[in-house]
Formats: sequence, structure tokens, C-alpha cells
Amino acid sequence: MAPMKCPKCHREVSKKTTFCPHCGTSLVTGYKNIIYTGGLLIVFALISWKYFDTDLYMAELMFVAGIGAIVRGLIGLLKRDE
Ligand SMILES: [Zn+2]
Repeated sequence: MAPMKCPKCHREVSKKTTFCPHCGTSLVTGYKNIIYTGGLLIVFALISWKYFDTDLYMAELMFVAGIGAIVRGLIGLLKRDE
């Protein structure tokens, strides 16, 4: 069984652990925060594009970054349950 990496300090930790033994970060919360951040990025991208006349390229960048963050957080959460 391959170990996973802590989202905060990036050191290897057991999949079964809830808290990182190196930095004390809650691993579940860490991934959830990544997902929330991705959601906020997407909302912010849509709002700024629609209401604040932001450059479409910038809005797309934020949107893609938000999707990427959500996918990364979901993968992290799912891998814990393997
Ligand atoms: Zn850590």
C-alpha cells in the first residue's frame, strides 16, 4: 500500500491517519479546504467576469484553477478510502 502525502507539508503519511504526524494538519479537512477553495475560485471567476468586466482570459484561468483544485481535493479524499 503506497503512502499518501500530506497536503500541507507534503511528507508521506499513512492513508489511515486522520492527522498528519509531522505537522498536525487534519488530512480530511485539508482536502475539504482545497475543494472549498476551488468552489470559491469558480464563483469568483463567474462573478468577476459577469459583473466587473474582467478579462475573459483571467476569468477562464480562475475557473480552470478552481476545477483543478476541486479535482485534486476529491482525488485526495477518495484515495484515503481505498
Ligand atoms: Zn503534514
